[in-house]
Amino acid sequence: MKKKLSAEAMQEARELFPGGVNSPVRAFQSVGGEPVVMDSASGPFLKDLDGNIYIDYIGSWGPMIAGHNHPSVVKKVEQQLKKGISFGTPARPENQLAKEIMSRMPYIEKIRMVNSGTEAIMSAIRLARAATGRELIVKFDGGYHGHSDSVLVEAGSGVSTLGLPDSPGVPRNLAAKSISVTYNDSEAIREVFEERRQEIACVVVEPIAGNMGCIPASNDFLRLLRSLTTKHGALLIFDEVMTGFRVGMGGAQGLYNIEPDLTVLGKIIGGGLPVGAFGGKTHLMREIAPDGPVYQAGTLSGNPLAMSAGLATLELLTEETYSGIWEQTQTLASGFEEVARNRSVEVSVTKVCGMFSIFFTKSTPKNFRDVKGSDIGKFNRFFHSMLKQGIYFGPSAYEAAFISAAHNEETTKKTLEAAERAFSEFNPS
Ligand SMILES: *Cc1c(COP(=O)(O)O)cnc(C)c1O
Repeated sequence: MKKKLSAEAMQEARELFPGGVNSPVRAFQSVGGEPVVMDSASGPFLKDLDGNIYIDYIGSWGPMIAGHNHPSVVKKVEQQLKKGISFGTPARPENQLAKEIMSRMPYIEKIRMVNSGTEAIMSAIRLARAATGRELIVKFDGGYHGHSDSVLVEAGSGVSTLGLPDSPGVPRNLAAKSISVTYNDSEAIREVFEERRQEIACVVVEPIAGNMGCIPASNDFLRLLRSLTTKHGALLIFDEVMTGFRVGMGGAQGLYNIEPDLTVLGKIIGGGLPVGAFGGKTHLMREIAPDGPVYQAGTLSGNPLAMSAGLATLELLTEETYSGIWEQTQTLASGFEEVARNRSVEVSVTKVCGMFSIFFTKSTPKNFRDVKGSDIGKFNRFFHSMLKQGIYFGPSAYEAAFISAAHNEETTKKTLEAAERAFSEFNPS
């Protein structure tokens, strides 16, 4: 595998960006070795600067669920491109995407478009604090909700990959307004409400965690969150930046059939361009400026190119698409279990539609503590072996893998053959 041009580009990038990257997990810090610099992508494949081709299980960390450069997404973006890149005025693509989202997530009665998941969560939390007149935020260990100050407490994704404690630069008295609780632990969340119910503005949760690897919440746990928040006058915020339109037509809230007060979206709804959104009940959303006093704004919010890419992507996501993605996910997951068993390697594979994780653990992890108990050394060896064979997983044991509609029997077969070789290097027979 040639690596010369990638290595040169990374050397240059190191002079330009902290760690040579513009988002930490890209830096390969926890798996070691040199990041690969990509040049182009198509369907389920990435191609690097040196011409090596990879089966991609990152999908730009979620957005590329239709596969890279899907012709209908490209076409819609091109059509909009000819009409204008950004107007800073209302424009029709915003209405179209909003209507598409709301038809799939009927609990969203009103929505505000923003530019990233981080921004959407930050704004939803501000709204929750304003609407309840309370300040305390409850989140869960290993839950990642972007990098705004209030949610950088026991956060997942890159924060945990780098083993950072809570981030420096977050004012201590702001961090004190956030508490983090064990995921899927009903007793722990009951206790928090017992002690601090009058202070809690909102509970923010990934209904299927994706940033400590893929860890679905139990149905009982999510229902408990719904009933505790309702009972004590706090808001329930579902962070569906990752699960929104990945795990099914109606996101995780559709799968579990639970109505959150606010829903936060991102990733897929931008089809690969920068987008986020938050929405929910009308009486809450009415508090947002200019209807209400909670300030929220954005120069590029509702950008017509991004709206077009998102709309074209959602239009491709039919029940049929999801059943195809689910089928590939199941085949891959059971395939990984089988080849691992054949090579006497202990793994637990977690999965939902379009998303899975391979943990090197004895039993299936339920929370971030269990995830941290997995064998990171083994994951890193697995990651590099797969990479060498042209299979691209996220460079961290704490990131989920993503499957697009472009993945098929062929990519699944190649991936499992590569996994068999990777596992055989663990336990040569
Ligand atoms: C990716 C992600 C975010 C942050 O979104 P950005 O667009 O990267 O700011 C927030 N929450 C969840 C669950 C995510 O997966």
